[in-house]
Amino acid sequence: MFKNTRQAKTNTIISEDEILADMEDLFVVGPTKLKEIVKHFVGELQKGLDHEGATVAMLPSFVTNRPTGKETGSYLALDLGGTNFRVCEVYLEGQSSVRLRQKKFTIPEECKNADGVVLFDFLASSVESFLKDSGVVPSEKELELGFTFSFPVNQTALNAGNLLVWTKGFNCGNTEGKDVVEMLNQAFVRKGLKVKVAALVNDTVGTLMSHAYNDPQTLVGVILGTGTNAAYVEKIENIKKWKGATPASGEMIINCEWGAYDEEKAMLPLTQYDNKLDAESQNPGQHIYEKMISGMYLGEICRNVFLDLIEKKCLFNGYLSEELKKQNSFETAFMSRIERDYSADLSDTKIVLQDLLGVPNTTARDRRIVRRIVELVGIRAARLSACCIAGLVTQMKKLDGCTVAIDGSVFEHYPHFGNRIQDALRELLGIFAENITLALGKDGSGIGAGVIAALAN
Ligand code: ADP
Ligand code: MG
Repeated sequence: MFKNTRQAKTNTIISEDEILADMEDLFVVGPTKLKEIVKHFVGELQKGLDHEGATVAMLPSFVTNRPTGKETGSYLALDLGGTNFRVCEVYLEGQSSVRLRQKKFTIPEECKNADGVVLFDFLASSVESFLKDSGVVPSEKELELGFTFSFPVNQTALNAGNLLVWTKGFNCGNTEGKDVVEMLNQAFVRKGLKVKVAALVNDTVGTLMSHAYNDPQTLVGVILGTGTNAAYVEKIENIKKWKGATPASGEMIINCEWGAYDEEKAMLPLTQYDNKLDAESQNPGQHIYEKMISGMYLGEICRNVFLDLIEKKCLFNGYLSEELKKQNSFETAFMSRIERDYSADLSDTKIVLQDLLGVPNTTARDRRIVRRIVELVGIRAARLSACCIAGLVTQMKKLDGCTVAIDGSVFEHYPHFGNRIQDALRELLGIFAENITLALGKDGSGIGAGVIAALAN
């Protein structure tokens, strides 16, 4: 990837400045490009609203009412996000206040690629264990549950939807094209549990609804976690493909499935490192935007850069550790740690490289290069996220003000991620960027399922 002039100098040592200048050429996305992306993305949104089968699917969520904050009651919710799986009891107390009790479960790797029955049985036994712990015994009446299932689903009712395709490393047999609510309900029946799915919820819709419970200005829900996606409030007359009845509210929350944006690779500034990641992924050619932005992939982009520099003897004196050879060994969480390392000699970065990646004896130069690459990949992710947020605000004509609720570990834990989004929004929207409030919608995907179950009740 080095520029030809530099590639020619095979026998001279390439300086740190030259390496980093090349990386900046590749990874810095300037304001002109940002604006082009927004414009192109809005066009893609509209295609998705017009007809089925568009790249950005724009899936109707069947959620047509937003909460008032006065809803009350206790609801069970499941949140299957990609990395984490939670069983929650959501207590809506009215007056916009919510209490949450939750238990986290780790999804065994073998469940992610087994037959669907194995995965859904695992979900059902987790619910069983949660209920046992909390002493709740479902009585004659079935417990109603909100199911947050954060994979592309073609929803056909609030409590029914067919899985379109697995993403984020899942690939269970005998599931694609089938109704995920039915599969979960059947697993409850197999376990003899009196629990039934009342609402099937995408995490983006849940995040929007949960934040709207205490901030009615909330019109967008975004996920920046294992994957990325968003939902927003759309006027029903703009959803040309909608053939159902017009709801009283005149609006419907749309699950964009924006992770799939630019599968044509027509607009996003892909580098050879992104293309390599895509080619080696479980879903090559798909979810291109997600692969530049979300937690499952950011570390791997950095690893691909490191491998290239190591091969060219520009990093770690050409030493490639066994750990670094492994796909996904450089985790996105390491990027957060490295970006938080403000010490003069990057001492924590040294520990990460040594203890977690098996690269001892790094030089200060090595560590500066590593840190800058991490920063470039992290900044690019935040700026590209801003493009699609700006696209949604533009589509809604809400430049005069709205709240964007954001959930997911990348937004919550990656240092400066929110500020970097805000910086890019300023470049994109000028003074209007001040009207857009970015808010952490912590646990929104779980709470929102409870809120939606309450509205369905
Ligand atoms: P889910 O997507 O399952 O709902 P999360 O929102 O917790 O779960 O996102 C998990 C993703 O966040 C993982 O891909 C992981 O790499 C990434 N992640 C976890 N911790 C951090 C961190 N400190 N900084 C950046 N990314 C992180
Ligand atoms: Mg989540």
